[in-house]
Amino acid sequence: MLGLMQQWPLLCHKIIDYAAQQHGDREIVTRSVEGPITRTNYRSVRERALKVAQALDRDGFKEGDRIATLAWNSARHMECWYGIMGVGGVYHTLNPRLFPEQIAWIMNHAEDRAIFVDLTFLPIVEAIADKVGSLKKIIVLTDDAHLPKESKLDLVAYESWIDSVDGDFEWKQLDENAAAGMCYTSGTTGDPKGVVYSHRSNVLHALISCQPDALGVGSTETVMPVVPMFHANAWGITFTGPMVGAKIVNPGPLMDGASIYELLETEKVSFTAAVPTVWLMLLSYLEETGKKLPHLQRVVIGGSACPRAMTKTFRDEYGVEVNHAWGMTEMSPLGTLGSVKPAYAGLDGEAVLDLKEKQGYAPFGVEMKVTDDENNEHPWDGSTFGRLKVRGPAVASAYYGGAGAENFDDESWFDTGDVAHINEHGYMQITDRAKDVIKSGGEWISTIDLENLAVGHPDIMEAAVIGVQHPKWDERPLLICVRKEGKTPEGSDILGFMEGKIAKWWMPDDVAFVDEIPHTATGKIQKMELREQFADYKLPTA
Ligand code: AMP
Repeated sequence: MLGLMQQWPLLCHKIIDYAAQQHGDREIVTRSVEGPITRTNYRSVRERALKVAQALDRDGFKEGDRIATLAWNSARHMECWYGIMGVGGVYHTLNPRLFPEQIAWIMNHAEDRAIFVDLTFLPIVEAIADKVGSLKKIIVLTDDAHLPKESKLDLVAYESWIDSVDGDFEWKQLDENAAAGMCYTSGTTGDPKGVVYSHRSNVLHALISCQPDALGVGSTETVMPVVPMFHANAWGITFTGPMVGAKIVNPGPLMDGASIYELLETEKVSFTAAVPTVWLMLLSYLEETGKKLPHLQRVVIGGSACPRAMTKTFRDEYGVEVNHAWGMTEMSPLGTLGSVKPAYAGLDGEAVLDLKEKQGYAPFGVEMKVTDDENNEHPWDGSTFGRLKVRGPAVASAYYGGAGAENFDDESWFDTGDVAHINEHGYMQITDRAKDVIKSGGEWISTIDLENLAVGHPDIMEAAVIGVQHPKWDERPLLICVRKEGKTPEGSDILGFMEGKIAKWWMPDDVAFVDEIPHTATGKIQKMELREQFADYKLPTA
């Protein structure tokens, strides 16, 4: 017997239709690339997205065409996504922080047929356009007045391009399983791999993220996605925001402490999300200026481990609650969030920080397990760590073109490449990337735990731990630190600070100081580069 309920395909444009109808006046604020702060609302975003779809249709783009975007978070970027999806196309976000050759490689792999590009990134497109044979149209996200007059490329200004149609257009009727978006993983090893989201997976992910213990945002909230739309869908906020009618504040091109602070303050942002490096910049700006955060209530931090010291500073200095989250491009991206379950009610002080150091628990829609290398499941005991595997309706089932098939098993489990343990209440803690873990005398040392501890030292800005060859133990940890400006701690100070807080044999064998730690295009510490940099390093214990 079948149920007798309606088939209502889960299509992304229904999200913007809903937002326009129920929350039409709700604002979308953007710090524009041209400079001024611009304001629009969901009604207008939908109208203009329809024009994007209509103009793409008129220009001959068809269902399934990959249409790239190389842009900051902005209302225009949002319009493009909904317009592309509404004509049956596939938005393909490109990360401008990659090398131009990598971007060209990715565009060729995806066979992008058109690109929407911010003025900021036009030089990248000018450098690579002739290397991307599939590329037929370049639309610059600006108006005629700002469009560069001299370019070797055939450019069209977004504003006049959408003004060339009347908006009398209907979204294409699509299968909910049709591709909606595409994003390539940062690919620290091997070629980048394409993740292909469907309409259904995006809508379900947005519903999952709406749960109160997930992002838990509603129509009264002002949300600032500092995390870029080109980093795993701005963690879904481009869909979640309109689904609940939240006001959105887009930081555009400026992500330094002062610029982020200005928007948090003037727009009264209550909820924001980004990787730890962004918050390092904001927190040092606040420390320098003595400014406070009267409006901000919650911040989601993920992408790499949120240091305990950061959670504490947000809480104790600024009254802001940190929600530590973990996810991946392959998971749309939310995997776990650190909301506090009743089992932990009444925790305070350091005990809360202990809990928030974990990456949190999975919401409905994400299944999780930890296994050994032979796929035997580990108990949820909070200490036995192994390979973290996930499955769910917004988790990738394959990479585009079949790459990386070894990461997916025949029961749909996706091996995340992360090493983690899960405790009896379902809270997961990442101890490492599988390829970064240090193997000392056959035992594993978690680099994330050591980094977390080291940045708790008041004079340390950032820390990274890598394994360095050791004649007796194979590998031993080397702690690499960036000092805070004007501070001059020595290695022995940092080690002294760490002593007694971790197992003795986990203590780094040495401390090296650098001016800067290299980061990937998505803000993660680039351990591979550090390992190369310190390849000949001789530990004093060796
Ligand atoms: P990306 O697809 O670029 O978002 O990268 C996903 C990877 O980032 C994960 O597999 C983790 O290795 C790492 N990651 C994301 N969030 C966290 C977190 N909260 N703590 C530690 N690592 C994280």
